[in-house]
Amino acid sequence: MAIPLLDLTRQNGPIRDEINEAISRVLDHNKFILGPEVAELEKKVSEYSECKHGIGVASGTDSLLISLRSAGVEPGDEVITTSFTFFATAGVITRVGAIPVFVDILPDTFNLDPDLIESAITGKTKVIMPVHLYGQCADMDRINEIAKKHNLAVVEDAAQAIGAKYKGKKAGSMGDLGCFSFFPSKNLGACGDAGMIVTNDDSHEEMCRKLRVHGSKPKYYHSVVGYNSRLDTLQAAILGVKFNYLEGWHEGRREKARKYNELFTSEKVKKPFESEDCYHIYHQYTIRVPERDALAQHLKEKGIGHAIYYPLPLHSQECYRELGYKEGDLPETESAAREVISIPIFPEMTDEEQKEVVSTIEGFYK
Ligand SMILES: *Cc1c(COP(=O)(O)O)cnc(C)c1O
Repeated sequence: MAIPLLDLTRQNGPIRDEINEAISRVLDHNKFILGPEVAELEKKVSEYSECKHGIGVASGTDSLLISLRSAGVEPGDEVITTSFTFFATAGVITRVGAIPVFVDILPDTFNLDPDLIESAITGKTKVIMPVHLYGQCADMDRINEIAKKHNLAVVEDAAQAIGAKYKGKKAGSMGDLGCFSFFPSKNLGACGDAGMIVTNDDSHEEMCRKLRVHGSKPKYYHSVVGYNSRLDTLQAAILGVKFNYLEGWHEGRREKARKYNELFTSEKVKKPFESEDCYHIYHQYTIRVPERDALAQHLKEKGIGHAIYYPLPLHSQECYRELGYKEGDLPETESAAREVISIPIFPEMTDEEQKEVVSTIEGFYK
């Protein structure tokens, strides 16, 4: 039985008519750029994330880029982040002319190790950018405490964590700016690229709104150089439909995670750690295993979807060679990159499929 890592057909199928109606409404009013659906989605997502403002942008990557600009990051500044993340997290730091400073992760949550942040701070540090990897929040109390002490801004890369909670607080609401991605495979996915920034700060809101339209306010008057980075009206309309199902989908994923936790019995498989401070939305169900690459090959042969997020840490990427990191600098990051594998998880998965995934993995180690 072939089992996909994620099956968007099963997600979108039952709501296809609703999505088509939403698209039709946009075709009726023709307000393709910053139409009413964008503001409606901004309201929904900001309220859901317990933030005063939402600013829709063209992608999760752009939400990070614009947030760094709004936080005042300039060429030569440093931004502290994790090396165990999707490339965009660090790419945007470089694109604003700043320098990514990578700090190691905790081996259980795969998120920034707060104990290592302070020693990475220099006179040039402007921002700490934690990533809530796989849908579980980083230790935001500790991170915010350090940021406050050193007068740094916090930009949350919550691309994988919309709706996740830390001590009851929503992902994206704890830093100065929170960043979401609606890439199709995220828990709330568009039918194309889309993203959003959330913030409680009025001046960040104003700056982010300006930066997404070439830095102009009023129109044709540019106080800063910005981007063409608007959230597409059609995508906002589709997301507005899908948003209404998000909480149920999170619960569905959490249910699948509980089921996997029950089904896995092999001591070779290290199951995901769920911190008691966190409501994990299981964007990914990621296990740690020995002989990871051989297991991946085995799953491929058996038709079982899987992915390695992420095989090469950012400090080891060719484009960052000049930053001067070497093997062994971030040992927890490096060992996670060798051992992790993400397996199928989506709300519509069946028990039979989960059992098959587990028996195929455990069978490999027998
Ligand atoms: C998906 C993702 C991004 C980028 O989002 P896009 O919408 O693809 O631009 C950034 N950071 C992390 C951690 C992500 O998972």
